[in-house]
Amino acid sequence: MRIGSRKGRWRILALSLLLALGCAAARPNVIVSIHPLFDLVRQIAGDDADVVRVLAPGASPHTFDPTPRDVARIASADLIVMNGGLDLWLRNLVEASGARAVVVELIALTGVRDALAGGFPNLVARDAGGAVVGFNAHVWLDPLVMAAAVPELARALADVDPAAAERYRARAAALVGDLEALHDELAAALAPLAGAPFVPFHDAWPYFAARYGLDLIVEIEPFPGREPSPAYLRMALALIRGSGARVIFSEAQLERRPAEVVAAEAGVALAELDPLGGLPGRERYQELLRWNAAVLLESLR
Ligand SMILES: [Zn+2]
Repeated sequence: MRIGSRKGRWRILALSLLLALGCAAARPNVIVSIHPLFDLVRQIAGDDADVVRVLAPGASPHTFDPTPRDVARIASADLIVMNGGLDLWLRNLVEASGARAVVVELIALTGVRDALAGGFPNLVARDAGGAVVGFNAHVWLDPLVMAAAVPELARALADVDPAAAERYRARAAALVGDLEALHDELAAALAPLAGAPFVPFHDAWPYFAARYGLDLIVEIEPFPGREPSPAYLRMALALIRGSGARVIFSEAQLERRPAEVVAAEAGVALAELDPLGGLPGRERYQELLRWNAAVLLESLR
């Protein structure tokens, strides 16, 4: 057979088509609940997986109401990554869709629990046997806890897509280094704020505050998405006045009004933090943490 014959070319074309289809079919569908976790999974997955986010930027996991379209998307997933604790709607969606995907919960990962217990002994509850049983679920706002989660997230990807396991592992290793460097950078940048009174909008920030030495006074909205009671607001106001805070924070995803009321009553300034990101300039997890650090530096210094 002459090389370059019509028949030969067709064979090569058919073969490459088959290969392309095979590769496309092999890319796993990964669904992630909230943006910061989505972005980290995306950084580990690279081009080897299709990673989709459920919660649109600007929405809060505390007030999210899924649609039938979300159910349909989830039915075809191979891997579902949820935070746990504050996105239980995703577990309900998985059940409603009949999806047979593997479900990974960030706060259930061994690395995350160990990192919390090691880094924040005063913020975790343990049972009589020493096992970590209770903690705040906003664990992604600490870069070192996420550095501990990344290798396990890579393993979850490799389990559903063994062919790309080595690439997931390599990207995860690079990301761990990046998150550790990010922590060093934030610690140096935020050092001048040590001991500064910090009044965030909801209870997303205990790890961030503890890690970077902010003095967390009180949250403005104890049940995110629900207006605080007058009695709670009086208590919060007294704590804010007693702390000497000159600024308090609203958040991009939640109704701003309670923070405006408190700021006016207390005679303090109002700034805005973003625990979730996904907006321009806060797409990447690393950008999101830097963005918040910059807001804190500007408003608390
Ligand atoms: Zn929250």
